[in-house]
Formats: sequence, C-alpha cells, structure tokens
Amino acid sequence: MALLPILRFPDPRLRRPCLPVTRIDDDLRQLAADMLETMYAAPGRGLAGPQVGALLGLFVMDPTWKEGTPSPRVCLNPEIVAASDETATREEGCLSIPGVPCLVTRPAEIALRWTDLSGVVLEERLTGFAATCAQHELDHLHGRLCIDLIDEPARVAASAALRVMAAGPG
Ligand code: ZN
Repeated sequence: MALLPILRFPDPRLRRPCLPVTRIDDDLRQLAADMLETMYAAPGRGLAGPQVGALLGLFVMDPTWKEGTPSPRVCLNPEIVAASDETATREEGCLSIPGVPCLVTRPAEIALRWTDLSGVVLEERLTGFAATCAQHELDHLHGRLCIDLIDEPARVAASAALRVMAAGPG
C-alpha cells in the first residue's frame, strides 16, 4: 500500500476523459488499494482515477466512514442508469481543488451500475450524500469538475481562489 500524490487543479489530466477498465489484474487491484488508502489519509470520501494520474474509469468512495461506519467501494466503469427528477443541493469539496467548496445541485437519487474488483456487475440505488459523492466522482471520469457546475455568482466568488491555485507552485 502506498499514498499517491493527488493532482491539483489546474493539472490538465483532470480534464481528460478516461478509458474504460478492460482488465482486472494485480496492477489494478494495487491501484484501487492505494487509492482507498490515499482517500482515507487525505481525508476524503471519494477519489477518482484522474486525481492520481490514472486516466481509467474507476473511482473509490466511502461516504460513511467519517461517521464511524466504513463502506468502501471500488467502482470500475461506473455509470448512472437512472436518476430522480427530484434534486438535492449540497456543498461539495474536491481533494483536487482544496479550499474551494462548491454548492452543487444534482439528482437526489441515482441508480449506479459498476463492476467490482472481482468482475461482478453490481447495481445499487444511492440516496443522500452517497448519491452526491458518486456523481461527483463519476464527473471526474469525464473530465468534469464541481467548479463547472456552480452558478455564475458562486463562480465569480470561487475564481479568485482558483486564480491563486493556478498561479501557485503545485
Ligand atoms: Zn473531486
């Protein structure tokens, strides 16, 4: 196990779409284990491949561990197969954009389909924070960031912080 460096905005790798995972091998299992360790150490509740420079369709998430009930998931080639009309607005943080919380509106419930590390295809209905977390991580796999989804006044407020990050050394 190893902690991986987390890429920071505006690293261009955060903007590239990912390739699907086509083989589950020891390298991929190691990557997933390292991503979970890195996520917990950050500390965060989700981490997507591009955030550690792996442009592959996978993310890890554990929306409940900070409340004392760990529920780690490794999601390969995740996709949303259904989404509610009802929406929820939550403040989202991103380990790649520290210090720039984003108020984002998304479907309140989704059905997520993914492949686990043993190659089994799973589908689960996610609600509450888990639904937000999965959608945030899935966006990363398409090169989308939460700062793309905030409304205009919030974007103006965030832009000063983003400029500082873009000018900074890393
Ligand atoms: Zn993020």
